[in-house]
Amino acid sequence: MNVSPVTDLPEISAGDDLAALIAERADGDVDVVCVASTVVSKAEGRARDLADFPAGPRAHEIADRLAELSGDEKDPRFAQAVLEESTELLMDEPFLLTETRFGHVSVNAGIDRSNVPENDILLLPKRPSESARRLSDELGVPVIVTDTCGRPFRHGQRGVAIGWAGLSASRDWRGEHDRDGRELGVTVESVVDELAAAANLVLGEGAGGNPVAVVDGFDMDGFDGSDNLFRAVEGDFVRQALRGWSYA
Ligand code: GDP
Ligand code: MN
Ligand code: MN
Ligand code: MN
Repeated sequence: MNVSPVTDLPEISAGDDLAALIAERADGDVDVVCVASTVVSKAEGRARDLADFPAGPRAHEIADRLAELSGDEKDPRFAQAVLEESTELLMDEPFLLTETRFGHVSVNAGIDRSNVPENDILLLPKRPSESARRLSDELGVPVIVTDTCGRPFRHGQRGVAIGWAGLSASRDWRGEHDRDGRELGVTVESVVDELAAAANLVLGEGAGGNPVAVVDGFDMDGFDGSDNLFRAVEGDFVRQALRGWSYA
């Protein structure tokens, strides 16, 4: 399998036809296109100024508490933006861990303050799987929208899929057999996250300017999948445990 960057993309701004910009530059065989959420957001006009988020009492309370804990100034308007992008606040200290409106759990609702010239912040795409669907329809291949996220229990960030279209989120191995003939009972492999992580390695995080990667040589035929990626609360025991010690 090859994962390579699509080079020479310009700075993306609101209204740009991202699919056309990619199609002009991606040549050769392509099985999947992975696109950094940063440029999907820019194209969809999701850049904002903090002035757009006048802080309410809850945001002030959160920012004051985080400032107290960290010793740094915290802008209550940023906390307001996080609250407005979220349906649930899972942790409110020492950072904000929330569920976004489309079901993805991340720090600060995935709001980015890097690689956003001219604006203060960049919100995640409103519905990344719908963004992926539009790009996939235009490009004629499966598309994954990625973001760089931290993870609990392990140091380091990596790419994850926050939206996808044209391929299953996962490959279900249950019912297949291991080398000793035992039937696999639990393994559902998150294919879109694995592809997103590989792509993220190629995209980089800084000024590199490579927000799109193409995957070639990945065969998606012949396996059953599912589109589930974000756990529902009922089956999410870590989130239930968090709820137990977080504020009500
Ligand atoms: P995220 O992981 O979705 O938050 O995206 P990052 O902010 O980490 O950016 C991923 C890659 O895209 C980096 O190589 C950035 O330099 C690049 N990038 C971000 N915005 C743009 C843009 O508007 N144009 C181009 N050409 N590259 C960009
Ligand atoms: Mn970024
Ligand atoms: Mn990001
Ligand atoms: Mn990144």
